[in-house]
Amino acid sequence: MIPYHHDEWTDFSNEENRKAFEEGKRKVEKNFGKHYDLIINGERIHTDQTITSINPSDKKQVIGTVSMATRDHADKAMKTALDTFETWWKWPAKLRAEILFKAAAITRRRRHEFSATMVYEAGKSWLEADADTSEAIDFMEYYGRQMLELDEGKPVLSPIDENNEYFYQPIGVGFVVPPWNFPFAIMCGTTVSAVVTGNTVLLKPASNTPVVAAKFVEVMEEAGLPPGVINFIPGSGSEIGDYIVDHPKLRFVSFTGSREVGTRIYERAAKVQKGQVWLKKVVAEMGGKDTIIVDKDADLDLAAESIVKSAFGYSGQKCSACSRAIVHQDVYDEVLQKSVQLTKELIVDNPSDHRTFMGPVIDEGQFNKIKEYIEIGKKEGKLVVGGEDDDSKGFFIQPTIFSDLDPEAKIMQEEIFGPVVAFAKAKDFDELLEIANNTDYGLTGAIISKNRQHLDRARQDFHVGNLYFNRGCTGSIVGRQPFGGFKMSGTDAKAGGPDYLLNFMEPKTVTESF
Ligand code: GLU
Repeated sequence: MIPYHHDEWTDFSNEENRKAFEEGKRKVEKNFGKHYDLIINGERIHTDQTITSINPSDKKQVIGTVSMATRDHADKAMKTALDTFETWWKWPAKLRAEILFKAAAITRRRRHEFSATMVYEAGKSWLEADADTSEAIDFMEYYGRQMLELDEGKPVLSPIDENNEYFYQPIGVGFVVPPWNFPFAIMCGTTVSAVVTGNTVLLKPASNTPVVAAKFVEVMEEAGLPPGVINFIPGSGSEIGDYIVDHPKLRFVSFTGSREVGTRIYERAAKVQKGQVWLKKVVAEMGGKDTIIVDKDADLDLAAESIVKSAFGYSGQKCSACSRAIVHQDVYDEVLQKSVQLTKELIVDNPSDHRTFMGPVIDEGQFNKIKEYIEIGKKEGKLVVGGEDDDSKGFFIQPTIFSDLDPEAKIMQEEIFGPVVAFAKAKDFDELLEIANNTDYGLTGAIISKNRQHLDRARQDFHVGNLYFNRGCTGSIVGRQPFGGFKMSGTDAKAGGPDYLLNFMEPKTVTESF
């Protein structure tokens, strides 16, 4: 088998590629308003209650509608997943992995259609959407191969009168609750990791981005996934979320989203319910309050570019986004001024145009929340660029920089999940690191420095799950930068890394005595 390699991003400076993407957009546009049913045991179930998915750049545009599951549907999905598990877990790992490889191949052929769906449904720029599709393909290719490796088990010692084996088995039915910010990549990665290891799942897509998820489930079916392995149940957290988490037959939850919901799931899942005969596992990837630190001895253009790209890519709506720049006092003014300059040059517009760097934020709730933080920022620091918003057509907020923040300020501590970055000054390297570590989170961070000793110190003392030297702090790639954070950022399961699949399996030791 060809070894895993990252699926390259599309070069949109090439006109042919732009034309192909426009074609993808037309395909998506033709299906605007289409309805997607629940899928339980392969059966399409239509419900009267629906979620309407809209375009955040143009609120009036309906991308599609999806049926919403009730508790009865959740029960039905649970029963199906339990029944299907009995057969699915005994499938040879090779056959399960092959389904992922086929799904990757189908997705590759339809890549621009998937990316265009995210341009319209999630407000992603072409580049961000294309990277999202690549990452989904990467997850399928990577986890498929990881499964084949794991299937061989690990060697253990066998003395002369005994034979010992050590291997991994799937664990049961999982509840997969992905986010809207990587509506294809993370949704796909959390689902396929759970199923390639032999588990069956209930997939509740993010309510802002259910259409891309529905299309993914269709691809998995086309690739040969048996009915009942992935049960597609869009719905509300209050109607079905807690209900499924509390279910005594549920074995694990794979969640990516807010700290609030993540900790809630963690607490609820810890409670052993009547009839439950295991402890539930929770894999949670939650928020971040990610920092780029700029040392005295640093390439300042690189620093500004790294801050601006990491802060404003996809409107700052990444757990990995840079929302704090901590800069050495000797270079502070220059880095700030360069960052402001670059920010002014960004093209903020409807992302259906390929030139757009940054589109809208996802919905009205986020729009209002970010606006509130901007008001707080005006009191806590100095607004140097941005701050304006416009929701007449879509949910647009200009890329915003605040300067001169106290490290303990609210906008230096709380996750905003929008295009807002706060600058603070430090007097020396010790203080740079100290401020970098002073939040509840520990997801990503970057250091821009030419000082080897400082890089070495940061390697140990900058307490984040994903640390970058001399580049931005977003854009991890499957198989290269396994992704996941410390502290309140989650359970530090490293998505796209060599240990990830073990979250959904349990090791077994078998000993035969002679
Ligand atoms: N893996 C993504 C990155 O490195 C972030 C994922 C997330 O926002 O959850 O930028």
